[in-house]
Amino acid sequence: MIRHHPDENLLLEYASGSLARGPSLVVAAHVQMCADCRSQLHTLNNLGGSLLNGSPAQPLQANAFERLMERISQIPEKILHKSEESSTPAPVSREPAMDHLPKVLNKLLASNPNRRWKTLTRNLQICRLKSGQREYEVAFHSLRSGSGLPKHDHRGREFALVLHGSFSDHNGIYGRGDFVLREPGQVHRPIATQDMDCLCFSAVEAPVSLTGVRGLFLNPLIPFRPG
Ligand SMILES: [Zn+2]
Repeated sequence: MIRHHPDENLLLEYASGSLARGPSLVVAAHVQMCADCRSQLHTLNNLGGSLLNGSPAQPLQANAFERLMERISQIPEKILHKSEESSTPAPVSREPAMDHLPKVLNKLLASNPNRRWKTLTRNLQICRLKSGQREYEVAFHSLRSGSGLPKHDHRGREFALVLHGSFSDHNGIYGRGDFVLREPGQVHRPIATQDMDCLCFSAVEAPVSLTGVRGLFLNPLIPFRPG
């Protein structure tokens, strides 16, 4: 069950096309996994469509939202879940944890045939991807089961989506489909749960920053490759 979602403002930014490409990929992948956010997006798109069509402003009826939600709930399940169904075609990667990805990520993988997984630490691997922009580092991260990352801060925003396994930090537990947004200044230490490796997809605006003495030595060496 998905418990962590993008907030309404972020969905609105995504729906209006004003969200940068890096975070848009993370939001799009979450939306393809999350029926709740698809419904919300459907509502936002309808509202946006009405505004763009120049419909004369009508006072909303008191129960307009409920009626809209009722209409959405009457859409046959098959249509509502179409993107989810089509989001699980044959995997494009041989890595065992890379199957059953949202369609948008399979597409991204297909456009990165020369991608490489790199070992950052004993427990952490990264696969950076080209996504046609220069602001965010877009990548998959795989954290070994039961292991943790060093405590770190973010110098820019980090958008992440859990694809397999789960991790926890002081804010809670994040499992498959959960969306995570970390703002600059939010220090955290994610730890993968014991049962399986944790695979995440993320868009990071700036390099992470390790806290404490370790950071003094290592921060200048942490690579950051937006693309
Ligand atoms: Zn959601």
